Amino acid sequence: MMRNLLVAFAIALAGAVVGCKPKESGKPKVAVSIFPLHDVTRRIAGDRLDVVLVLPPGKSEHGYDPTPKEIAKLEGTKLGIAVGLDMDGWVEGIMKSAGGSPRMVHVGAKVPTIPIDVEPIGEDEEHADEHGHDAHEGEHEEHEGEHHDEHDAHAKKAAPAPHDDHGHAAKGAPDPHFWMDPQRMSAAVDVIAAELTTLDPAGKDIFAKNAAAVKESLARLDADTAARVKTWSKKTIVTFHGSMSYYTTRYGLRIAAVVEPLAGKEPTPQYVAEVLAAIKRGQAAALFSEPQLDRRPAEVIASEARIPLGELDPVGGVAGRDSYETLITWNTDQLEKVLK
Ligand SMILES: [Zn+2]
Repeated sequence: MMRNLLVAFAIALAGAVVGCKPKESGKPKVAVSIFPLHDVTRRIAGDRLDVVLVLPPGKSEHGYDPTPKEIAKLEGTKLGIAVGLDMDGWVEGIMKSAGGSPRMVHVGAKVPTIPIDVEPIGEDEEHADEHGHDAHEGEHEEHEGEHHDEHDAHAKKAAPAPHDDHGHAAKGAPDPHFWMDPQRMSAAVDVIAAELTTLDPAGKDIFAKNAAAVKESLARLDADTAARVKTWSKKTIVTFHGSMSYYTTRYGLRIAAVVEPLAGKEPTPQYVAEVLAAIKRGQAAALFSEPQLDRRPAEVIASEARIPLGELDPVGGVAGRDSYETLITWNTDQLEKVLK
């Protein structure tokens, strides 16, 4: 009898090993692309679901190549939550690599967005690619000589864009960084709670209660931030990539220029000259680099323009920015240092 039990145990163990299953909680697994959405999702889920973050802290949200170990972590995912709006399409690829076909929710498609409003100064950014594909380099060179007569947006739209299969980063397209506005994040909380309820109907009341608590906290954060920004004497900044428009729109700040309209794409000398002119024109108080991106172009421009260089973080997930609220507050702190 004992022997039979041992054999049964050995077979079960072998099965587990063959299946290569990592330690599982048994709870339905939900994968979330970036930290801000992950933080609110895990708080809404409480302990009913296993909520996994896909993008490791420190990486840019505009492109990500995971290690096999990180892919394996996503095996068995039932629900994927992403921003969408052509920002974090990499998450779908990772899910496929992990062997599943979870239901995907694109939160950005379900909350009110604003169009990308970066002026096409200097570079033909409409045809460039945020994901840093080298295939676009040639296209840029083609347009090098056309800067001066390329300022008509309609002419640009009419130009062929053979690689522009994502449709993102174009002026007028929905800006994906909605989470930087706590009010829009609050709308996202409702979207996420509804999706978690579809996944786990028995958790409905718990999700609703947790979502209400998160929304209360976001409302406090929003009111606190608005009250602080109101006291600042300066209102104009230069940001590193186009991640801050929702924040500045919500709280009445102004962005004079963006150093890298396409994250990870180094600005051309021509574009840098245009940014410097825009800093002067707009009397920008400071320039902000971002921890996920190369700081050097920002250092060069800030020193050239003789304005302070600060740092803003659209993603967080590190010490001191380990909740959505502390992330937003940290950014407000950075802005306050130079704008108050
Ligand atoms: Zn971004």
